[in-house]
Amino acid sequence: MQDEENVFFTKSSGGKNCYVCHYLGVADTKDKTGQRVPNMWPFQSMSSALFAAVRLAARPLAQLSAGGATLQQPAATHLQLTSGRRTGEQCSRWQCERRSNMATAKKVFNFGAGPAKLPREILLQAQRELLDYDNTGMSIMEMSHRSAKYTELNNRVQQDMRDLLKVPDNYKILFLQGGATGIFSAVPMNLMPAGGSADYIVTGSWSSKAAKEAAKYGKVNMVLPKMDAYNDIPNESTWKLSPDASYVYYCANETIHGVEFRYIPDTKGVPLVCDMSSNFLSEEFDVSKFGVIFACAQKNVGTSGVTVVIIHEDLIGKAQPIVPTILDFKINAQDNSVHNTPPMYPIYIMGLYLQWIKKQGGAAAMGQQAQQKSRRVYEVVNSSAGFYSLPVAEHCRSRMNVPFRIAGGDAALEKKFLEGAEERGMQQLKGHRSVGGIRASLYNAITMDEVEALIKYMTDFQKEHAKK
Ligand code: PMP
Repeated sequence: MQDEENVFFTKSSGGKNCYVCHYLGVADTKDKTGQRVPNMWPFQSMSSALFAAVRLAARPLAQLSAGGATLQQPAATHLQLTSGRRTGEQCSRWQCERRSNMATAKKVFNFGAGPAKLPREILLQAQRELLDYDNTGMSIMEMSHRSAKYTELNNRVQQDMRDLLKVPDNYKILFLQGGATGIFSAVPMNLMPAGGSADYIVTGSWSSKAAKEAAKYGKVNMVLPKMDAYNDIPNESTWKLSPDASYVYYCANETIHGVEFRYIPDTKGVPLVCDMSSNFLSEEFDVSKFGVIFACAQKNVGTSGVTVVIIHEDLIGKAQPIVPTILDFKINAQDNSVHNTPPMYPIYIMGLYLQWIKKQGGAAAMGQQAQQKSRRVYEVVNSSAGFYSLPVAEHCRSRMNVPFRIAGGDAALEKKFLEGAEERGMQQLKGHRSVGGIRASLYNAITMDEVEALIKYMTDFQKEHAKK
């Protein structure tokens, strides 16, 4: 992969933070065509091919083949010239960094359920900006959450989310702490009056946990009968909704079981609250159908530490007096999510992720990709003549987390599958300890190539182990 090389390059925005060029003595020289060319002194012993590469060094992002590998220019040059040399100085020409840790990092396919894979571009950008955020001379982690720079970042991330999801103006976007688990408590305390009630649609472990938490603050009506196993969503016509509930709660994608709602429930006017932790921004959806949407970031939009809450303004200001300030939607909305020190770094990473999604084509593109990626895995299972099997009913199979069993749940074979996967660099495919089996999580950052690699392995494994 292009970005697996051990040097990364972008044009410096403000002439700072360059670690490689300065040491090499890059000077502000120009060639006949007016292109900037690095000072030649360190390059004297170079081959003519590499010399040519150096001449190209002033052309950002040009591709060339050097030393047999296709590299990004001028990374190629730096790669050749800096190996084994000291780094750490600054230069005024390019923003370059040795990525020795990346160079030695083995290629893995991270199918984990979360914290999950981040797009490599985001990690690289975060790495480049680690010491100097936007020419401030300091890391985002070191600055005041009341500074103009952080205020600008906070507002920009909110705006990007608003744009991506077409969030209507009468909704607030909050960045809170305490994980999605914290919001399990925040929801009842903010939306249900003392002695009030709420409807919970429990389709898996996460909605079950949320219902248990809510029962501490009010009455919880279970909309569905208790299930022995979470592998289906009963038809809406059988649901027991109560008209006097303060809200109806559900989890759009049960991460552990791979059960995903493929529609938005109709609550007959009662505010709808949704835990979208594991399928947030994985497709377009109509925000106006919801009272509250919340999602931890560490699956589809970033890293752990920040939880997004999107809430209709009409639902703000109804909190029980016992609500801790930190979870009070009204206070956090009034204070633009800086009532106290926010998780600035996770918010920054989420900001990079949202920009990345925009570049990919937005929520609609994420939706198309999620559909394609999951369909490929389901196809392999479905055409395996029963070697692989799916526990979840077809109409609610998740596009994000694909659980499957091997040979009807043969523990030894599943173990073998996981060992073989590890050997191929495919990690975190083990199903949740409460359900067993295999689970492939295919969040936004997972590429089609990675899915194809998994599919190839599944096909090979079947050929080797299916009973003839
Ligand atoms: N809801 C769902 C659907 C989840 O998948 C998770 C975490 N895996 C949570 C809630 C809990 O999130 P957190 O760990 O951020 O509290």
